[in-house]
Amino acid sequence: MEQTFIMIKPDGVQRGLVGEIISRFEKKGFSLKGLKLISVERSFAEKHYEDLSAKPFFHGLVEYIISGPVVAMIWEGKNVVVTGRKIIGATNPSDSAPGTIRGDYAVEIGRNVIHGSDSVESARKEIALWFPDGPVNWQSSLHPWIYE
Ligand code: GDP
Ligand code: MG
Repeated sequence: MEQTFIMIKPDGVQRGLVGEIISRFEKKGFSLKGLKLISVERSFAEKHYEDLSAKPFFHGLVEYIISGPVVAMIWEGKNVVVTGRKIIGATNPSDSAPGTIRGDYAVEIGRNVIHGSDSVESARKEIALWFPDGPVNWQSSLHPWIYE
């Protein structure tokens, strides 16, 4: 089953959105396969965002991600990468639809509350980086009520 990496950024943690965000993924029917509250080092944040290292906002982005603890998660389910991005909403909260996490809880692109992997391949890389021991192996007893 497909997995994605989701991170509640430091503003989401500080603003008390952890429960709300987890709840949206849970209620959708996705399964939590990894979860930790962690403060990351600068070099780790740079590694996570290495594809953006040439961008003018890269330094500010790294400062943002290391400014407080983040909640790192693995979520599993059918099409969870693409659907997870839809639940999160567009990168710039000015463009994120109401009902999405960024549409409901964020105003600026540099404080957009949450990260989600943008492809199955980046999910695989990000899960390996953030959860070197891999996901927790369990299956929800709700499975037959969510999948036919
Ligand atoms: P995402 O996959 O939707 O998170 O977007 P990207 O991978 O393109 O960018 C990663 C993160 O960098 C975004 O979530 C924003 O927090 C930040 N970011 C992206 N573009 C900009 C920008 O133009 N300005 C600023 N300040 N931050 C940006
Ligand atoms: Mg991205």
